[in-house]
Amino acid sequence: MSTLKVQNLSVYIEDKPILNDFSLEIPYGEVHAIMGPNGSGKSTLSKALAAHPNYDIRNGTAELDGHNLIDMEPDEISRAGLFLAFQYPIEVPGVTIANFIRAAIQARMEESKLFKAVDYYKKLYQKMDDLGIDRKFTARSLNDGFSGGEKKRCEILQMAMLDPKFCILDETDSGLDIDALRVVSAGVNSMRSSNRGFLVITHYQRLLDYIVPDKVHVMWEGKIVRSGDKDLASELESKGYDWIKEELAA
Ligand code: ADP
Ligand code: MG
Repeated sequence: MSTLKVQNLSVYIEDKPILNDFSLEIPYGEVHAIMGPNGSGKSTLSKALAAHPNYDIRNGTAELDGHNLIDMEPDEISRAGLFLAFQYPIEVPGVTIANFIRAAIQARMEESKLFKAVDYYKKLYQKMDDLGIDRKFTARSLNDGFSGGEKKRCEILQMAMLDPKFCILDETDSGLDIDALRVVSAGVNSMRSSNRGFLVITHYQRLLDYIVPDKVHVMWEGKIVRSGDKDLASELESKGYDWIKEELAA
């Protein structure tokens, strides 16, 4: 079966252990959420899976559809079908959104094939219309001077254009007003399907009112300490994270 399967992952930053024997399995077709207090290691998980050079994987495995993601280069990970939307998208002055996304798609196609400009722009404009992104954005440099909401919409646009098998969204809701949150959630929901999986990382429950997850996991000090259905998110919202700390100490 096709899955994102992480087993016993240990990740260090500068010799400091951040993820500690972390395991998680998400079948295609499901949306799982990871919630947790700041500093619990949520972004470390997404960056380690994206082969960020500062994150030292010392133990464990991560597989997508049976392909070992560990030791892959970031472009190979993308070609394997994993898409990551980061908490803080980078700004790339001088590279337009249209050219950036086209290069990303082209890089994932066989060399002999070419994505024709007409077809590309047709698809791009369709997705932009769906996501409520003004067409003049195509000529703007990637994320350069974008508001928080514009950056996040742009990430969802990239995701929709790349059509990945599995998407990880790291705090895509942070800094979003309610309108942007709705647009981003609608974009994700429209991509939900039986052959695509999602991991949605969030500090707040609010996003999960719009993107209703199949499962919710709580991360604490680099590990999943609780798993449940969407009601667990509501419980965290009303009770905060301290009760988990108390339960773990008991
Ligand atoms: P979260 O996304 O859950 O808020 P992070 O994964 O960003 O948590 O951080 C987990 C821990 O790793 C924190 O204690 C943080 O201080 C530490 N950390 C994150 N990035 C770095 C870094 N570049 N250098 C040193 N420590 C880091
Ligand atoms: Mg984070």
